[in-house]
Amino acid sequence: MDLGIAGKKALVCAASKGLGKGCALALAEDGVELVILARGKETLEAAAAEIRAKTGAKVATVACDITTPEGRKAALAACPEPDILVNNAGGPPPGDFREWEREAWIKALDANMLTPIELIRRTIDGMIRRRFGRIVNITSSAVKAPIDILGLSNGARSGLTGFVAGLARKTVKHNVTINNLLPGAMDTDRLNSTIAAMAKNRNLTLEAARAERAAAIPAGRFGTINEFGAACAFLCSQQASYVTGQNFLIDGGAYPGTF
Ligand code: NAD
Repeated sequence: MDLGIAGKKALVCAASKGLGKGCALALAEDGVELVILARGKETLEAAAAEIRAKTGAKVATVACDITTPEGRKAALAACPEPDILVNNAGGPPPGDFREWEREAWIKALDANMLTPIELIRRTIDGMIRRRFGRIVNITSSAVKAPIDILGLSNGARSGLTGFVAGLARKTVKHNVTINNLLPGAMDTDRLNSTIAAMAKNRNLTLEAARAERAAAIPAGRFGTINEFGAACAFLCSQQASYVTGQNFLIDGGAYPGTF
């Protein structure tokens, strides 16, 4: 299917690997010009080279921490008028809420709520003027079904989700949509580090821990970054102009609810 977005400009955050990279690759396959960012320059440049080689797309890079004001300034200088914005950053650490002082909460809120809101604030009026905009926030299945050890994530991402639910209804008449993608267990470094911690705690081999975790998912496996990217590209398509304020789970059936 031609998504009708060839030649559009996208800013894809936290995209040197994992889910952000999956989104960048899928958009590039549809002819979108990219600015991708991540903190580490070397991995970022390698990702950009891979995407260029696979798709022939124009890919610029910004090595920055998107959760800082300087990082956002650099990202927006490189891509001042994105048609597509994919918000993403690393997730907060696990733990017990009794250990989290104000500083831990502010850090999680900065990364997973206030940074995406600030990037939306800085780019959405241009999208409205140009009568095209697609914003996709990478959140987590934790928004629908909280994960007990990830309280910082449950809280910060739910704050973003609530804010977006209101704003998305105001911009859709200008052909500017805002949706959230909710990953379940996707096969990335982030998932592998969580599984490595579980394997260590329970004295399992990494393979045994991976197999146990995958068996608990109705699909019987982890999701891929390509599957995730394809969903992102669809939400950014011309065809998705009537879809806004939605929370899409990509979790192999792990969420047990009917709705
Ligand atoms: P990953 O570790 O594979 O990749 C993270 C990417 O983000 C890397 O490119 C890294 O350089 C970049 N990054 C991290 N912090 C950044 C920052 N402050 N500024 C700029 N770049 C930054 O992780 P992933 O699995 O792709 O996860 C992406 C998001 O999705 C995270 O917030 C994660 O918590 C969330 N999530 C992932 C899963 C999963 O199963 N993979 C499930 C639920 C939620």
